[in-house]
Amino acid sequence: MNEIRVHNTLSGKVEPFVPQRPGEVSIYTCGPTVYDYAHIGNYRTFVFQDILRRFLELRGFKLNHVMNLTDVDDRIIANAAKAGVSIRDYTAKFAQAFFDDCKTLSIEAPEHWIRATDYIDDMVKLIQRLQEKSYTYAGEGSIYYRISKFPEYGKLSKIDVTGIQAGARVDNDRYEKESARDFALWKAPKPGEHFWETPIGPGRPGWHIECSAMAMRILGETIDIHTGGIDLAFPHHENEIAQSEGATGKKFVNYWMHAEHLLVEGEKMSKSLGNFFTLRDLFAKGYKPSALRFALASVPYRRQLNFTFDGLQQAASSVERLRNFSDRLTREKFPEGNAPGMAERIEKAANDFDAALSDDLNTAMALGVAYDLVREANIAMDKGEFRQGDVAAAKDFLASFDRVFAVIADTDAEKLAALGYGAGDGAMTDEDVEKMVAERQDARKRRDWAASDRIRKELAERGIILEDGRDGSVRWKRK
Ligand SMILES: [Zn+2]
Repeated sequence: MNEIRVHNTLSGKVEPFVPQRPGEVSIYTCGPTVYDYAHIGNYRTFVFQDILRRFLELRGFKLNHVMNLTDVDDRIIANAAKAGVSIRDYTAKFAQAFFDDCKTLSIEAPEHWIRATDYIDDMVKLIQRLQEKSYTYAGEGSIYYRISKFPEYGKLSKIDVTGIQAGARVDNDRYEKESARDFALWKAPKPGEHFWETPIGPGRPGWHIECSAMAMRILGETIDIHTGGIDLAFPHHENEIAQSEGATGKKFVNYWMHAEHLLVEGEKMSKSLGNFFTLRDLFAKGYKPSALRFALASVPYRRQLNFTFDGLQQAASSVERLRNFSDRLTREKFPEGNAPGMAERIEKAANDFDAALSDDLNTAMALGVAYDLVREANIAMDKGEFRQGDVAAAKDFLASFDRVFAVIADTDAEKLAALGYGAGDGAMTDEDVEKMVAERQDARKRRDWAASDRIRKELAERGIILEDGRDGSVRWKRK
């Protein structure tokens, strides 16, 4: 087994990964703010953290992974008030959509899914600890964090804080990325909007305190790994460090791992450019969950990912190639015995696969290892040189591969059907299929094999598989 090394934003270096307790890893992931549907840029980050957790699991680590739903946020509170509904009611739809999307992308459920609204008490207690240590000051009903009291501020994002004026402060969680200022831990209530009555006064928590409080409540005061998108490093994660370390005096996180941005066709994704996609937008266009997961996973997380529709097509054919190889291993009968060198070849692939992922999750290299093995084994099969004795090892390799990449087992159709795609939205209805199957039966009766083959192929391209019975009957199913 290879030494696992990860890039730590805090040190700016790739370091050997050593968890606090051997065999166990605690991870905190900043989840979505559930005021809208998450987009593919968000899912790039969530697929990255899924690859991380699946790889650690493959390596035998026991995980304790927390992902939060930010369901307290200025936009959420304002929108809920406008709609005249509770925060829970307002966010329920988007939270459910997020869970559904994760399932569709085969993102494993973390050990703890938590919501900010369930941890208000912990946030209040953490603010009280900071108050006791004079990290805070009050103003107009809000409570602010005094950055000048925490000299290490900026150590994660390497932001220069020398220009900070004492007392320059912001209430807004979404303030400009270049300037560091005192930020709100607790915000005074706004007329007509939801607030909590607490020992530190009425109001609502700031976004940053939510993650510090929830992470430490469940995972303890020092966490092995904290993940998120690179845009969260400053100010959100910087503020998490200031809050947690200010309160405890201990190191908050040992390894900070950040995923780079996603571009669409070379441009920043934005609603105004018309290149803004949710998962559902892509499924409605007929793309499969496995292809999307593959496309998001294929570029190592610290490289910018340029999402293109060509790339998505290529991802779909890569998945197809892997699935076909897996099918061959199951379906075909090979001559008994072992092909010379094949066992060693597969063992080398398994080691190279582990080495690639151990190297700061180099997914591109890991995929390259799998492609090479599949290509060589396919050639051996075509030449009649592959042997039955090598099947088990090849299947083991694919199983390990799929524990991390999770694209070979074909569950696309059922996942799409669960989201309401498949039958409608340009896909064939049962009646359409029956009609074409009947046409093909006519062609077969006429012994017009070309027409029959053409219809079979056309159906296959639209995801319909035909099974001809010995008695001339035909059954069909959706892929
Ligand atoms: Zn967070």
